Amino acid sequence: MSTASFDLVVVGAGSGGFGAALAASRLGLTVLLVEKSESLGGNAARGGVNNWEPGVGGTGIPFELYKRLKKIPDAVCIYAFGRHFAWEGPDVIPKFPGGEQVVDRVSRYADTLRRYGAPPLRQAESFRRAHWHGVPYEPATYAVEMEKMLAETGRCTVWKKTAFTGVQVDHRHITALTCDNGQTVTANYFIDATADILLAQRCGCRTSLGQEPRSLYDEPSAPREPNDRLNGTTLIYRVARIAAPAVEPLPADIPTACWWAEKFPVAAFTQYPNGDYNVNSLPTMAGREAATLGYGAAYVECARRIRAHWHHVQTSYPEFQNYKMTWVAPGLGVREGPRLVGRYVLTEHDLLSGATGQKHDDLIALADHAKDTHGADTGRAGCGELTEPYGIPYRCLLPVERDNLAVACRGASLSSVAASSCRLSRTMMQLGQAAGTAAALAMRNHLALRDVSPAELRAALRDQHAEISWPRPPELAQYLQKEDS
Ligand SMILES: Cc1cc2nc3c(=O)[nH]c(=O)nc-3n(C[C@H](O)[C@H](O)[C@H](O)COP(=O)(O)OP(=O)(O)OC[C@H]3O[C@@H](n4cnc5c(N)ncnc54)[C@H](O)[C@@H]3O)c2cc1C
Repeated sequence: MSTASFDLVVVGAGSGGFGAALAASRLGLTVLLVEKSESLGGNAARGGVNNWEPGVGGTGIPFELYKRLKKIPDAVCIYAFGRHFAWEGPDVIPKFPGGEQVVDRVSRYADTLRRYGAPPLRQAESFRRAHWHGVPYEPATYAVEMEKMLAETGRCTVWKKTAFTGVQVDHRHITALTCDNGQTVTANYFIDATADILLAQRCGCRTSLGQEPRSLYDEPSAPREPNDRLNGTTLIYRVARIAAPAVEPLPADIPTACWWAEKFPVAAFTQYPNGDYNVNSLPTMAGREAATLGYGAAYVECARRIRAHWHHVQTSYPEFQNYKMTWVAPGLGVREGPRLVGRYVLTEHDLLSGATGQKHDDLIALADHAKDTHGADTGRAGCGELTEPYGIPYRCLLPVERDNLAVACRGASLSSVAASSCRLSRTMMQLGQAAGTAAALAMRNHLALRDVSPAELRAALRDQHAEISWPRPPELAQYLQKEDS
């Protein structure tokens, strides 16, 4: 076993880990990024979530990645809303099996930076058509461009197909990690971007799983009693146009009728830049069922369900006989797992106050996605769209128990209700950008991560064009316009 040494180790190369490794290495740190799979991007690439949904923020590293992809033919585009079953009228048999997002050659990146303010779905057609635009991309190109951006810093080492397996701790500090490639790694700072916060859990940080009771944070949308429900899990697939229309044969052991719910779920059909559809059924499996089955068995069962789903789509909506299934995401889309209980827990109160009502001096990212539990019912009406963006405090990345660890992924310190809004890929990349920047400031001044000055961190993020205050400053709007002309 040999030992390697870095300023910072980031574990997990999904959205959060990529943002963290890139920001820190650009600011002069030597960084090791450890990723257990064969490619970068995590859920946003291997997990099949090959689009960034509309949302505030995303002006820092995500915008840079977008600009690079834009230079590559058919690597990225902007979408607009197409058809939607909810807008056909309540008594009509739906003509479309969900919602459709289609390539939009007119809108710009800045148009993708808004979700807040939408009326409820059935009344929202004109609002969504006008204001909701997302960013679909080719996942393989996305992963390769991420790796190139990291390589260009000259300071980031990437270990793929390598899992972190163990951690050594001395009092309040992590001193080393062990990996399954036989290496021990020492560093001054560590960032957990594994989504399921494996590192934070392994070194004894407090975590939470499932929905908290309303009494804990007094959240209006939380259930009265705590429960173990988790946001839904989806196995995403891709379909491409074919010359000779056909219904793909269904394997004999897969029923044609839906066996896990009353009827087949609706799905989001999002066009890739080349016109293929990304199919994201909402969801394929309840989150708790997936957690109980375990990752491998859940993947196998979801693979059966999506074949039945695709058969239903092709037989009930004949236009889809012009398509065939060409890809199934190699990673299962897991929306929710354990979350840190850190120095601050983001709750529904932050979401409802909005950035203009929040009193925190350490906001390091903005978000405005709906409170969206994908069937993991909170037992109370009221989940839905937000009226204003809200901010995420730096303290949501910091465990109480360790001084040189930050968490920058969907397992950050968020209540279950807050996580249902906050988890989007670009938001995670922004949390990573903030965590990597904080590690660089801490290194420069020999500080514990919790002692990094919020004012200094915010100033550094502003210099990187991250959107951290609301309303959007005119200079940021001008930057977006100039850079995307
Ligand atoms: C089905 C689904 C649909 C969604 N739809 C959208 C959408 O349309 N738009 C949007 O913006 N967001 C969407 N989201 C949310 C968003 O995609 C995710 O929340 C976000 O990408 C998570 O990023 P992350 O960095 O927290 O984790 P991940 O992207 O999951 O990254 C974690 C990384 O850590 C690695 N890892 C884990 N354990 C180890 C280990 N021991 N050692 C080394 N590496 C390890 C993993 O391999 C992975 O690469 C969706 C999520 C799901 C599940």
